[in-house]
Amino acid sequence: MPFSSREWHLAARPVGEPKPTDFTFVTTTVPDPGPGQVVVRNDFLSVDPYMRGRMNEGKSYVPQFELGEVMTGTAVGTVVASQAEEAAVGATVTHFLGWREYALLDAGSLQPVDPDLAPVQAYLGVLGATGLTAWAALRDTAPVREGDVVFVSGAAGAVGSVAGQFARRLGAAEVIGSAGGPAKAKLLTEHLGFDAALDYREGNIAGRLAEAAPEGIDVYLDNVGGDHLDAALAVMNPGGRIALVGAISGYNAAEPLPGPARLPLAIVKRITLRGMNVSDHADLADDFVRQAAVWLKDGSLVADETIVDGIDNAVEAFLAMMRGANTGKMLVRLTH
Ligand code: NAP
Repeated sequence: MPFSSREWHLAARPVGEPKPTDFTFVTTTVPDPGPGQVVVRNDFLSVDPYMRGRMNEGKSYVPQFELGEVMTGTAVGTVVASQAEEAAVGATVTHFLGWREYALLDAGSLQPVDPDLAPVQAYLGVLGATGLTAWAALRDTAPVREGDVVFVSGAAGAVGSVAGQFARRLGAAEVIGSAGGPAKAKLLTEHLGFDAALDYREGNIAGRLAEAAPEGIDVYLDNVGGDHLDAALAVMNPGGRIALVGAISGYNAAEPLPGPARLPLAIVKRITLRGMNVSDHADLADDFVRQAAVWLKDGSLVADETIVDGIDNAVEAFLAMMRGANTGKMLVRLTH
């Protein structure tokens, strides 16, 4: 029997911060699966910063959202109808047709996940792209060495909150994080194991990072760009390593922002700045999931989530995440 499904479409390309009117909520009917196809009932949707770039005209590393069409993104769900031997009804899977209640998919585009290893939504966060991003950035892109001082921005978010913990596991002697507001700063030191926390909303991030790291920093995982990247360049030790992971401070900017004024320090100090994209690190994923699931189970890895209920609130969840309403991974839970 065909499923009735509600889904979010992009109605207009946002200028600056997206508005609720840039999106429309549409009810549609998902056809029965044909040979080799399945219907998945989505249980959790991921809302992520990179989706902001997909709302703009023009190609980035992921194709743009098309106007008037349903948006996409990662989701985890349950197969509820199947015409494919390899995907039985009841299986838990992740896939890329988020922003909707039910998805019709070719079985080949599903990734089966083990619901006994961790709560299913973990595959959108700590065991999914965000966890792997943090791990690959600090293991490969800007490798942490024994005794390093490591700085992580966006440290209370999905990538940042686990990055601080991974830095420690990889040998960091000191881990400094920055986040927005006093409550998040407190969370960093009291809950997420950071040695020092900077509330960037207080201003003067460069001055306060210098105070927190009198011996300089060796590795910086940049989720934010802008003034944070500039501050890190100022205190970076010679030979330091920077993983350029994200630049969320500019994602809503209507015009390109100027680069960091202190970039020439990279020459003087022989700093390596390296862009990373998690899609280049798929080879690490299986081992990472196995290992991180063990850390999750034994309680040594803290993976916070902020959960918003209801497909009708998915756009608001995205907008709230961009404004910093989340700690850990922002997720939308669907009830059927
Ligand atoms: P997240 O950190 O869970 O959520 C976004 C956070 O950004 C918000 O909670 C907010 O926290 C912060 N923020 C918003 N505006 C800011 C500003 N102007 N200055 C400083 N912080 C700001 O999101 P995430 O999924 O973990 O992603 C974090 C970064 O990693 C993003 O830049 C994303 O694009 C990037 N990323 C890259 C890859 C890759 O493959 N390269 C993969 C995943 C994610 P505050 O309350 O602290 O402001």
